[in-house]
Amino acid sequence: MELVFATNNSHKLKEITPLLRNSVKILTLRDKEIKDKIPETKDTIEGNASEKAFYIYNKYNFNCFADDTALEIEALNGEPGVYSARYAGDRCSFDANINLVLDNLEGKTNRKARFRTVISLVIDGKETLFEGIINGAISTERYGREGFGYDPIFMPKGYGMSFAEMTLDEKNKISHRGKAVAKLVDYINKYCK
Ligand code: IMP
Repeated sequence: MELVFATNNSHKLKEITPLLRNSVKILTLRDKEIKDKIPETKDTIEGNASEKAFYIYNKYNFNCFADDTALEIEALNGEPGVYSARYAGDRCSFDANINLVLDNLEGKTNRKARFRTVISLVIDGKETLFEGIINGAISTERYGREGFGYDPIFMPKGYGMSFAEMTLDEKNKISHRGKAVAKLVDYINKYCK
C-alpha cells in the first residue's frame, strides 16, 4: 500500500520513514510534486492532524496521514500546546520558542511536561486517529544537538538525558511520535494488507 505523508517537515519525515518502512510505501509531498502550504487552523492537535490529512485527501485523492504535536507544560496551563510551532510568534525559530519556554518557567519548581502526538490516517475517505504521549520535564538549560524543536530542553522521564542527546533510534523507541506511529503500523498491518 502507498500512503502520502502530509507534511513539509523534513525532521518528521526522517523520524517516521524508518518506522513504517516494512509496512507501507511512504510517499512525500515532494514525491507527488505537491507544493501547497497545508492549512493548520484548528485549536486542537486532533483538529489540525485531521485538517492536514483531509486537505490532501480531498484535493488530490491520495490515501494519506498527517501528524500534529503539542508540548504541554503543566505549570503553564498546558502551553505552548497547539501553538507549539509558533509559540514565540509566526515564523519564529526553534531557538526563540525554547527561550520563551525557559523564560516563562523561570523560578518555577514544577517543570513537568509531556509531548502529545495525534496522527490522522485517511484511507478511502475514512479517518482513524492514533495518539502517542511521553511524560517528562523541562530542563533549565539546553542539552544535546540531535533532533529538533524543543528536544534540547525536554527530558523524558527516567532517562537522565534530553531528547536531543539521544540517537534517532533511541528517541523513536520512546517518543510521542514513535508511540503514535507504532499504533498506526499495528492498524495498517491488521486492516490494510
Ligand atoms: P507540529 O505542529 O506537529 O509541526 O509541531 C509543532 C511544534 O512542536 C514543532 O514546530 C516543534 O517545535 C515541536 N515539536 C514537534 N515534535 C517535536 C519533537 O519530536 N521534539 C521536539 N519538538 C517537537
